[in-house]
Amino acid sequence: MIILQNSFENVTGLHEAVAYIFVFLFGSAVGSFLNVVIHRVPNEQSIVFPNSACPKCGIPIKPYDNIPLLSWLVLGGKCRNCRAPISARYPGVELITALLFLAVYYGIGFEPFLPVGFIFVSVMVALVFIDAGHMILPNVITYPLLIFALVVRIAFPLLLWSEYLPDFVNAPFTFMAGYPVWATSLAGALMGALAGGGSLWAVGEAWKRLRGVEAMGLGDVKMMLGVGAMLGWKLTLLSIFLAAFAGSIAGVIIIARQKRKDMQAQIPFGIFLGIGSIAALLYGDKLIAWYISNFIP
Ligand SMILES: [Zn+2]
Repeated sequence: MIILQNSFENVTGLHEAVAYIFVFLFGSAVGSFLNVVIHRVPNEQSIVFPNSACPKCGIPIKPYDNIPLLSWLVLGGKCRNCRAPISARYPGVELITALLFLAVYYGIGFEPFLPVGFIFVSVMVALVFIDAGHMILPNVITYPLLIFALVVRIAFPLLLWSEYLPDFVNAPFTFMAGYPVWATSLAGALMGALAGGGSLWAVGEAWKRLRGVEAMGLGDVKMMLGVGAMLGWKLTLLSIFLAAFAGSIAGVIIIARQKRKDMQAQIPFGIFLGIGSIAALLYGDKLIAWYISNFIP
């Protein structure tokens, strides 16, 4: 993904393992915050106030009982006060986020683009779990994602001359050869947004006309506008392909396990779009190169 890799070891003089431990702890702490986002944003509650409390007895959770991963294990998955069970989803989100942060650090390295990778996967984790729980992809997350992606696309080529994503600079815009890099980068973002949001919208519209059912929510379209602007058209189409592939496997399993075979299975597609987008960010270039070398004569 990245052409030039600074290493943490070179910059700080500390062993590379220290970086991985730090990234894991940082990821679990971000995961802890994402739990709050996942829990409160669908209910339109503030993510800042009040402090977390036990949903059963309402007793505020003490800081020492709010340590990512550890507290849940120490308390045996129960509230210290009323012993009500605490969902395994909480440490689950913390662990998933921590592992994704490790993968992002492994893929991007000690680079200026690293925080962008962290933010991108964090947003995907929040969207995946909110869609799984509520079948919605909130605008308060998808709109800022799009704005963030556009800002990154303009700012990175201006501040740091470097090719961070495969079509960050060179997009398929040979006619833009004389334009400044930020403009080409922005054009790549807009084309990515169009590829992501536009293709999903078109599929949804076609499905609606053919079958008369709403197949694609606008939330999915808005989510992929942001993903598209961030990743560019190639990786975005790959994200959608991976999502459709994983989603159809899941759909077949769900329908096969249903008692009534005629039911339309309702699957929150945002889950698969989120997973596909993370996979495309981390492994997209390798996947595309592998496909071209094996299947394109
Ligand atoms: Zn309690």
